[in-house]
Amino acid sequence: MTETPLMLFNSLTRELEEFVPVHPGEARVYSCGPTVYNYPHIGNMRAYVFADVLGRTLSWKGYDLTHVINITDVGHLTDDGDAGEDKMEKMAAEKAQSIWDIAKHYTEAYWADVKALNIREPAKWSVATDYIDEMIDFAKSIADRHCYELDSGLYFDVSTVEDYGRLARAVTEEGEGRIETVEGKRNPADFAIWRKTPPGERRQMEWDSPWGRGAPGWHLECSVMGEKLLGFPFDIHTGGIDHREIHHPNEIAQNQAFCGCGGLSQATNSGAKIWMHNNFLVERSGKMSKSSGEFLRLQLLIDRGYHPLAYRMMCLQAHYRSELEFSWEGLGAAMTRLKRIVMAVERLKDAAPGAPDHPRFAPMREKFAAAMADDLNTPIALVALEEALAVKKVDAGAKRAVIEEMDAVLGLGLLDLSRDDLRLRPQGATITEEEIEAELIRRKEARAAKDFTTSDAIRDELSAKGVEVMDGDPLGWDWKL
Ligand code: AMP
Ligand code: ZN
Repeated sequence: MTETPLMLFNSLTRELEEFVPVHPGEARVYSCGPTVYNYPHIGNMRAYVFADVLGRTLSWKGYDLTHVINITDVGHLTDDGDAGEDKMEKMAAEKAQSIWDIAKHYTEAYWADVKALNIREPAKWSVATDYIDEMIDFAKSIADRHCYELDSGLYFDVSTVEDYGRLARAVTEEGEGRIETVEGKRNPADFAIWRKTPPGERRQMEWDSPWGRGAPGWHLECSVMGEKLLGFPFDIHTGGIDHREIHHPNEIAQNQAFCGCGGLSQATNSGAKIWMHNNFLVERSGKMSKSSGEFLRLQLLIDRGYHPLAYRMMCLQAHYRSELEFSWEGLGAAMTRLKRIVMAVERLKDAAPGAPDHPRFAPMREKFAAAMADDLNTPIALVALEEALAVKKVDAGAKRAVIEEMDAVLGLGLLDLSRDDLRLRPQGATITEEEIEAELIRRKEARAAKDFTTSDAIRDELSAKGVEVMDGDPLGWDWKL
């Protein structure tokens, strides 16, 4: 098979670039993690499905992957400017609980979603509050040349680095409206590196620093953990597309200051070689949000009877750089597609292990490899997998090997799923699957005997218990609750 170079879209240059690792044979990736003040919504999880597919692709290409995902438990304000409250402090006050308990609870909820979506564990989950000393040291090292102090904290002067805001393509002089003005800032885009606790107040999370008691600004943690754990420059930095606007430009400015390096026409001066951003999962009503009360959690999907991997399938069906609109119908369609694949894979489970390089599969493997190498084109890769499954009269062991090879990249866990797992089944259903199956056998017999009165009666009884018998189901004889 021809070895296709891995092309990735670099948000910094807005171009497709070939992945050439900083350290030969290795791939070092940093992904901005969740702010653990609330449950993650499924839009947030799209960011980690994307990062996981990237990581799996790098592993499949043979790179030794080191992936870091951070856990933000301090510093992320309710507002992207510096005027809001800390999201963690706010939630802790609302719930009258300690921030540490809040962080633990929501971190564990996030990890449960990670597991349910077959997202591989990174080499390290780095927790922001474990790096406070390092953040203070980092800030000290750039303070003289790049920062100034105000009553409210230590601020980064964005005019002290070249090409500030290039990632966002922002024109800093215009003073973007979304950045709240803080009295005394030199440039509207300047941001807090250290936020002092106002006199007379106490925060649950505060530490001593050369600039007084307080807490770090949000952007600082990712610069510090990226540098400590992966070293500048590392290969790839990921996040959702919202981070392209403020968080990542600010992180880049800090990195440039720390490294004492020049402008961003040299991408590595930003701290990473490639910056990648997934587009949003949206609801028809607009962007998904977890700070505005009601939001879609993975658990809600599960409660409504969908398998969590139906959501992973939904994500894979779209390119990561396209907006994806969530709908229940769309999720149902993704689950049906996954079920069709799983039914075909079930027939391969007993096959003796074979090798994937059977000539009949060469076109599909080429197509799959070309799709993944083309900026992670999972929609096409899925089609290649379905085409491989559809090959007739071929050694089942070879087919199984091809499917396993492709699934290692897509991460659907196809050999561990069964058709029954993918049945729409809301929690709280009163009838068991065995009872349904038994009734369906009775109905099948009645129909075979042309006893339609009995067969219709059974269907009506099942219907009264919330079971819909799908005679026209393309997958065969099926039902849903
Ligand atoms: P947060 O917990 O808000 O820091 O967000 C965690 C990750 O989810 C970040 O990479 C965000 O950019 C990303 N994100 C937030 N909302 C969405 C969305 N609706 N769709 C996709 N990614 C999102
Ligand atoms: Zn970050």
